[in-house]
Amino acid sequence: SSFDQLGLPKPINDGLLAMNFKKPSKIQERALPLMLGNPPRNMIAQSQSGTGKTAAFVLTVLSRIDLSKPTQPQALLLAPSRELARQIQTVVQTIGQFCENLIVEAAIPGNISRETGVKASVVVGTPGTVIDLIRRRQFDVSQLKVLVIDEADNMLDQQGLGEQCVRVKGLLPKDIQILLFSATFPDKVMTYAERYAPKANQMKL
Ligand code: AMP
Repeated sequence: SSFDQLGLPKPINDGLLAMNFKKPSKIQERALPLMLGNPPRNMIAQSQSGTGKTAAFVLTVLSRIDLSKPTQPQALLLAPSRELARQIQTVVQTIGQFCENLIVEAAIPGNISRETGVKASVVVGTPGTVIDLIRRRQFDVSQLKVLVIDEADNMLDQQGLGEQCVRVKGLLPKDIQILLFSATFPDKVMTYAERYAPKANQMKL
């Protein structure tokens, strides 16, 4: 199988070529057709790191961005640490290197200017900073189409982080597509996950 079957936009395929990704990994092959479907459906995906899960959600995010509005936030990706947020930002920028006008910003402490606020198509951040920016009206979430939570086991289970994730979701458009990725989903976390991403497709690698 190849990425061609997914019908991804040409700039994204060019990005995959540049990265020398020749064919989808197993998680990509199974999850992408579900995540890219219309109407969009939520996804709860269990997959170890090293399986290509980051590219799986990054490809979904990039395919949903309207690049005629590059400064309008359209996708939000949440991670538990600024380091992981930066890593994900790099993957979005690398796979998206041929997506003209694409802007990717990190909503992590100290990174977003108070004057301009968030002016990006894709925002990768930590939950606390994202909440602050939305509250201060420096991050317009009204056009967000997809929310990704990486390391969902950490994010939804920890007391502070879990509450912040719930609060973020409460501030977003009600019809947003929610993608949860994690290496593990212990029973308790799965209960939170199913509440957080209702009616999701589920897959375990
Ligand atoms: P991850 O599971 O997101 O930690 O990714 C593991 C590694 O696999 C990363 O170094 C990616 O660059 C690489 N990778 C992801 N998807 C593919 C693919 N389809 N073909 C080759 N390498 C890939």
